[in-house]
Amino acid sequence: MRYIVETRESRDLPNIEAAIKIIDPQAEIVREGPGIHLIVQVEGFRVVVTAPDLGETGSCWEYQDDEIQDPRYTPADQQRRMKELVRLGIVRLLGSFMGKTPPWGILSSVRPTKIYHYLREKGFTPSEIYEKLLSVYGITSAKARLLTDIGGFQERFFKPPEYVSVYVGIPFCPSRCHYCSFPAVSLETHRHLVARYLEGLRTETAAIGELCRSLGFRIETIYIGGGTPTSLEAEDFGRVLQWTAEAFKTEDTVEFTVEAGRPETVNWEKLEAMRRFGVTRLSINPQTMHDRTLQLIGRNHTVAQIEAAMAEAKRFDGLLLNMDLILGLPGETPEDFLDSLERVIALNPDNITVHTLAPKRAAKWGKVFSELPLPDDESLAQVSDAAVVRLDRAGYRPYYLYRQRRILADLENIGYAKPGNESIYNIQMMEERQTIMGVGAGAVTKWVVGKEPHISRYQNPRCPATYASRIVADIAKKAQQTRILLG
Ligand code: SF4
Repeated sequence: MRYIVETRESRDLPNIEAAIKIIDPQAEIVREGPGIHLIVQVEGFRVVVTAPDLGETGSCWEYQDDEIQDPRYTPADQQRRMKELVRLGIVRLLGSFMGKTPPWGILSSVRPTKIYHYLREKGFTPSEIYEKLLSVYGITSAKARLLTDIGGFQERFFKPPEYVSVYVGIPFCPSRCHYCSFPAVSLETHRHLVARYLEGLRTETAAIGELCRSLGFRIETIYIGGGTPTSLEAEDFGRVLQWTAEAFKTEDTVEFTVEAGRPETVNWEKLEAMRRFGVTRLSINPQTMHDRTLQLIGRNHTVAQIEAAMAEAKRFDGLLLNMDLILGLPGETPEDFLDSLERVIALNPDNITVHTLAPKRAAKWGKVFSELPLPDDESLAQVSDAAVVRLDRAGYRPYYLYRQRRILADLENIGYAKPGNESIYNIQMMEERQTIMGVGAGAVTKWVVGKEPHISRYQNPRCPATYASRIVADIAKKAQQTRILLG
């Protein structure tokens, strides 16, 4: 649909457009011609949104916000609130016209829990925050409860700024999954890059480890992801673990995760190396427990291999195990997903992460999946609610969540854990409360700076060959930036 927007401040237009797209993702904002007129007025702490073309009922929305004059808010908070109310007005008006109630209300960001922590820092109680999530952010009561529960739980993990985490990227996979948009290449086509890549990685790991020591960083968690780190040959994999442990592991390190991703890449030799170098957590990701779907999405492994990898990993005492599932895979019914969930619960991992499919541009979505049936939004939302209940009954509690652009049914990804077995890295990375030093191709370093944290980012080249050729110059840039921001 086309929209003609009238507002006194043209700099409000991106905010208004974002709000319209929550309800109508295909919306086009035009200057003139046929379309729905939206008139936005902000005066003091009052917001009025009018849409005369929507007819008598529901054509005007207004909100006088007295709460924002609470002394805990700053002028910047007040400005932010007025923008939020403009979004709320548009979402409410267009939503009722089109019969849509977006579960996350006006929040279109990847990290909705940040709102909880922002309001906590202002001094509001969890129940006050819950009320604001409903009235200001337009979130449904179920999502507001989820968000306040997760936010409240996460607070205990926030640490002083000298604590940091480290991410090490291994951008190789046995083959490329059709839905993937991570910085990863297939070993079927790129095996020749491994040796050069590892040379670069060794140089960067040692240099960033030295930098962390010289700045007195306390490394709380280490995460080796990708890609599929365990797709390396056992000897190479062991060397990566050794470099990582030598560079970063200290008495402050409470968690060391390896993302195995593909179950067929896990074997006893690699598990032994993990034990030797102090790995505490391993992620084996089935995504589905249906062989037909595994083939369709290009994973080239079987359910039997998932079960075998879990059995092997369980022989390794004390290793926490995570399993990932995806809701909304093409060709799968809601029952298929719930069946996968049952089979994963039966394997008794410590963490289960439930993603919702977010078809992305970078993936082969259009080519491979477009002819396959996808469950409708309502069924997906119902299955997602059923998963929360089922996981709760099995003893898993939600502890982090995030959203993605184009995620199906406007849902979210949720990490669940048995109490005490949460991944601290996932919380720190998602909430952006802790600096993450990124090492390896595509790895993102995020410096968390200042009291009201501001994030600065630096991403290493995604291509393994470019990474290897640029690494020396990149290390110098990253070290200089770290010293300026956190030294
Ligand atoms: S295993 Fe993960 S990183 Fe590798 S291709 Fe599949 S989705 Fe991408």
